[in-house]
Amino acid sequence: MLSKEEYLIGFHARSMEELLRVVSFKKVNLVELKPDYIQRRSRVSLYEYQDGKFTINHKVAEEIREICYRHYIAQIQLHVPFETKNDPSEEKGLCYANKEHHDTLIARFEMINELYEKYSIGAVAVVHPPAFRLEGKEVWSIDEAIAAGRKFFARLDALIKERRYKFKVGIENMVNPKKSGSSCIGYLPNQIDKLIGRTSEIGINIDSGHRLLAHEMSIARLFSYGDIVSMHFHTNSGEFDADSYDDDEHEFATEKNHVHYWRYIAGIRRRDTPVILEISRSQMKKLSDTEIGMYLTQLRNHIW
Ligand SMILES: [Zn+2]
Repeated sequence: MLSKEEYLIGFHARSMEELLRVVSFKKVNLVELKPDYIQRRSRVSLYEYQDGKFTINHKVAEEIREICYRHYIAQIQLHVPFETKNDPSEEKGLCYANKEHHDTLIARFEMINELYEKYSIGAVAVVHPPAFRLEGKEVWSIDEAIAAGRKFFARLDALIKERRYKFKVGIENMVNPKKSGSSCIGYLPNQIDKLIGRTSEIGINIDSGHRLLAHEMSIARLFSYGDIVSMHFHTNSGEFDADSYDDDEHEFATEKNHVHYWRYIAGIRRRDTPVILEISRSQMKKLSDTEIGMYLTQLRNHIW
């Protein structure tokens, strides 16, 4: 059993400024980097993607590792950028549902292994399940997306075993499909079963907010999938809106605003699940460091 201070709790970081803020909280010992956001907002690239190849930016990796070490961060996770188009010349255009992109997507995990071995970055890599709709249009059927994803994760599973990779991979449960933007599978339990059911090394990242916007997914099912490598813990009003992404409000979850708050707390305690507070930019801005510190103290007390 972990002590109160040992539970891994932290935030996502979508800019260098945000990284510096969230690692400075005394009760934070975990961080999840979103490299595409950090690139866009801070012009800092953890790695480059060009001509189908991934190259680590060693200076940046070293700098991020130093920042995390200085603040006693015990685990650095990575959230892999997800597809918004079908165009392999950009990282955002690499699709799991497109088998022609699989070699390149595998190369990304080989790079993550290097990041983890050299800089302890990417202890957990969280990925969205394959998208089947891009820019609101159905590019693949759900069955095609499942079949291609299943093939990809079987290949990744074999690679992890063969090379004895130590980092963990988790696919995230998703919201119900939207009319615009990209929509991924992974909002129904049997889609996740089919995607990773036959693997032994691919786990789950539970997203409590997405679960509220996918009513056929149950918390029991989410906790039933082998390895729970991490959790995105946040809440929203639970009213699904097919026309926008604003329903996924990413607010701090409390016993007052999240009907299943204590079930998640129990699940975290039982499984020692690392917790990423994936909180919206606006709420992070609104709250003072003291208020956020109080939330962190309370969350640790509740879990423990
Ligand atoms: Zn999430």
